[in-house]
Parts: sequence; C-alpha cells; structure tokens
Amino acid sequence: MSFASKVVIVTGASDGIGAATAIKFTKEGADVTLVGRTEDKLAKVAAECAKHGKNPLVIKADVSKDEEAKTIVARTIQTFGKLDVLVNNAGIFFLDDIMKPNFMETFDSTMNTNMRAVALITHLAAPHLVETKGNVVNVSSIGATMVKYPNFVSYKTSKAALNHFTRSLALELAPHGVRANLVSPGPVYTDIFNKAGLADFVSDLKTETALKRVGEPDEIADVILFLASEKARSVTGSDYLSDNGSLLM
Ligand code: NAD
Repeated sequence: MSFASKVVIVTGASDGIGAATAIKFTKEGADVTLVGRTEDKLAKVAAECAKHGKNPLVIKADVSKDEEAKTIVARTIQTFGKLDVLVNNAGIFFLDDIMKPNFMETFDSTMNTNMRAVALITHLAAPHLVETKGNVVNVSSIGATMVKYPNFVSYKTSKAALNHFTRSLALELAPHGVRANLVSPGPVYTDIFNKAGLADFVSDLKTETALKRVGEPDEIADVILFLASEKARSVTGSDYLSDNGSLLM
C-alpha cells in the first residue's frame, strides 16, 4: 500500500493507535503531520518516523481548544502544500456517573475531544480533501453501538455521534469524490485504560472477545491504512470493526 506523495494528518499521534498509524503511513512513503499534546512523546514518534526517511511535521495542539485545532490544517498546507488523508484518532475515555456532581465536566470534555474537535478539523480540511479527492478515517469504538458496560455514558455517546457524523459526511462529500469511513476497535492494549485508572480492565476483556485476545495498536493501524488507500476506493460510509469478535458475544 504505497502512500508515496500523499500527505496525511494523524491526530493523537503521540501514543497508542495514533502513533502506530503515523509510523506506518511514513513507512509507506507519506508525509505525515503528527498532532498531540505532549512534546516529548511526539518527539519519540517523530524519531521513529525519521528512521523511514521522512521527517514528519510535529504540531503540539490540544484538539479540544479551537485556536490550537485551527492551526493543524493550516500548518499542514503551509508545509506540504496539500492534504490527502485526515485521520481523526485523538480520543479520551473516562469513567463517569450520571449522579455525580462532576458528570457534566466529563461529558463536555469527552464530547469536545471525541466529537466537536473532529467536526472542526474536518470542516477546515474538507476543501483541501476535495482538491485531492482524498479521504477521512475516523477512529470510533465498539462502544458506539454497544452499551454492555455502565459508567461510560459520555464516551459511548461521543462515539455514537461520531459514527453518525461520519456517515453523513460520507454522503455529503461523495459528489466531490471524497470518502469517509470509521474504524471501530474493540479492546486494544494502549495507555487509554491506564489514563482512566482501569489498567487491569483491558486484560480482563480478553475473555469477553470471541477470539479470546485483545488487539494491538498496529492491527488498528493496518485497517486505517487500508481504508485510506486506493484499495478501498469503493468504500465509503463504512464502519470497519477490529474487535476480536467482541460484538459477537
Ligand atoms: P491513547 O491514550 O494511547 O492515545 C490517544 C491519543 O490521543 C494520545 O496521543 C492523546 O494524547 C491524544 N489526545 C487525547 N486528547 C487529545 C486532545 N485534546 N488533543 C490532542 N490529542 C489528544 O489511546 P488509544 O487507545 O490509542 O486511542 C486512540 C483512539 O482509539 C481513541 O479515539 C479511542 O477512543 C479509540 N479506541 C481505543 C480503544 C482501546 O481499547 N485502546 C478501543 C476503542 C476505541
């Protein structure tokens, strides 16, 4: 899957799925913009990318802050002259409780990062994607369609909204030759669980998948690259599960 001469933005590229995706795109010849909040982590991913002969553009930005999010597409165009693929991957995941006083704080921050930021960045990217007949890959979750575990109302709602947003986007941009798709991972070994104080939860989920395993970031990155590639030229408005059969259970 060659991405030579393609320009790709990956948000949340400092860790986990985003880092694996950015490195894989670089390996396949793309010029990549890495977006994240933590400079030292971004520098490590940039160094990995550089091993494949390409220096990425590194943008330190919090996607939930409009002024910072607005720089992402502008700086990418300034540096590389165009945009072919937008991967909206940055996401947060926290336990919440509808009865707790801080519920709305968690709800707002989750919606701002997982949904509103995607809308803003996609809005700014769309004219450039129309020019290149590019595409968007949004990283959702099986939580968008499954409500098996309580206390993730904010997360699941944000991802359900993202799914609807992506399908609507696919329809709206199809006349311009631009595709938009979703990847919905099941449990994947990344720091997202540690950040939520749920380090053990992810391993426990192994027994709850049909294949009795938890995914790796690379496996999700492979699906993202497929969807972004010419091989998927007939695929738009789709939701690709990579969940080891979680939703079969
Ligand atoms: P992670 O915590 O390892 O990585 C998330 C990345 O997003 C990090 O680089 C983080 O800094 C970044 N990020 C978060 N908020 C940001 C903000 N406001 N501005 C800029 N960057 C921000 O987690 P991950 O598991 O790699 O998650 C990537 C995506 O995959 C998320 O959208 C998540 O919801 C989704 N997902 C993960 C799993 C899983 O089991 N790991 C399952 C389903 C869906």
